[in-house]
Amino acid sequence: MDFIWSPWRYDYLASGGVKAPSCVFCVGEDRTHDDERLIVFRGTHNFIILNLFPYTSGHLMVAPYEHLDTIVSAKADQLTEMMQLSQKSIAVLQKLYRADGFNIGMNLGSAAGAGIRQHFHLHVVPRWIGDANFMSVVGETRVLPEDLHKTYQRVKAEL
Ligand SMILES: [Zn+2]
Repeated sequence: MDFIWSPWRYDYLASGGVKAPSCVFCVGEDRTHDDERLIVFRGTHNFIILNLFPYTSGHLMVAPYEHLDTIVSAKADQLTEMMQLSQKSIAVLQKLYRADGFNIGMNLGSAAGAGIRQHFHLHVVPRWIGDANFMSVVGETRVLPEDLHKTYQRVKAEL
């Protein structure tokens, strides 16, 4: 069982099991609802958002503002900043959650498991030594040691 490497399940759940009518990653420029949408940071070309269905506390995603289905269409500036925001995310998660390691990755295309394949995004998943062993014991049950809104406040303050 590959528990952590199934973050596409988020996309599936977020869409209620069916394709969402509008894209959850097209956040626009209006910042008034960033709290409810769990957007923790806005850059020039990309933003950082908490995963609504995290695999671990601090599971973040970095996505471009532009509605692009693949990195092949992305411009160098967008990709560069995406990696910079991933770097920033990792630094913050190391500090706040003392993560021992990270999985970062993308699911591009439905064959790769992307539920929201119309708008690519990069997952940043903090890991701790022993977490996978524990996860395999509890099977499909997610362990959420921290409330999402608490995570939101902590991460946002650090970023
Ligand atoms: Zn979109």
